[in-house]
Amino acid sequence: MQDNPLFRTFLPKKFCKEFVEAKGNSLQLGLYMALVLGLKPLMDDWIPVGNLKKFKKACRRYGIYLREDVIFKCIPSSQISDNIIGREILTTTSAYGKLIPKRHHSKNISLQEQVHVFLSKDKNLLTRGMWYPVIVKDRVIPQPRFDSLMYGYVLGYPQCCIKFFREFNNWRMHSYLYQAYKHTIAQPHYLCNPFLKDTSFAYIYHMPCNYRCLETIKLARKIRREIKKREPDYVNFTDYYLKKIYLVFYEKKYYWFEGNFENNVVVFKKMFFCSPDKDKDVYSRYFVKADALSLKGRRIYLYKKRNLYKIINVPLNEFAPEYPFIIKFGE
Ligand SMILES: [Zn+2]
Repeated sequence: MQDNPLFRTFLPKKFCKEFVEAKGNSLQLGLYMALVLGLKPLMDDWIPVGNLKKFKKACRRYGIYLREDVIFKCIPSSQISDNIIGREILTTTSAYGKLIPKRHHSKNISLQEQVHVFLSKDKNLLTRGMWYPVIVKDRVIPQPRFDSLMYGYVLGYPQCCIKFFREFNNWRMHSYLYQAYKHTIAQPHYLCNPFLKDTSFAYIYHMPCNYRCLETIKLARKIRREIKKREPDYVNFTDYYLKKIYLVFYEKKYYWFEGNFENNVVVFKKMFFCSPDKDKDVYSRYFVKADALSLKGRRIYLYKKRNLYKIINVPLNEFAPEYPFIIKFGE
């Protein structure tokens, strides 16, 4: 498989460079920049325990306050044992959590485990950070519903998108991303592309109410403009990756394609799985052998040198239903 450039480390020349050095990666870099620029009120991240000291120093340098939450050990969802009550409702994030001991160098904590941190320029906002569903002993404990409903405001998301999220973020009934697609009436705009939010190259983290949401464009444009003044290379790469073709199944499974999309056929030279949950990448092994694909209903037709090479039938699951669609982002 080709190396995935979407997850490579991008080191800025100057602006926010310290965060990348402290974290050891550049995931969410655009959000750090937005936070420092005062264009994002609050964000969270996961920092390896061994990097925390250096990371705190970077935060101080940029006037960012930090609150430590729990320490997580990231594991693939396949490792969550069957006897956990509620395991089927875990959505985008799966991790085992444990309480932080007073001192991090406790023998029980490996330096690889990650501290969940909240970051803000406003100290008061730190107490409004929300926790993830966690497994305690043999049960999934979700966060209070009221907190979930309010959290979008704390993160600085547009009101229209928060409203849409409240209506369609239901993993038993909808594919949120498909609903946003159905509500898109004009050409999808690259500044409304949410599919790179967990890579190194994104201006926004929220999923817009449609792929040409004007409020999202306004917000992302402001962030992009300010970053461009400081790190133009970052903007060049981010724009390039955002303005591409995506094949989307649901929130944990989507693919990036470089090529052309015409008459419902994607002709491509390069493709990458761009969701962070690598467990869900079940199709790359077929896509890398093809050079074109088309989607008809729930069927994907793969071609190699114009010959049909494989047909994939996309199952409709009861939880986290998959509604495949192809989308090309432009301006
Ligand atoms: Zn919106």
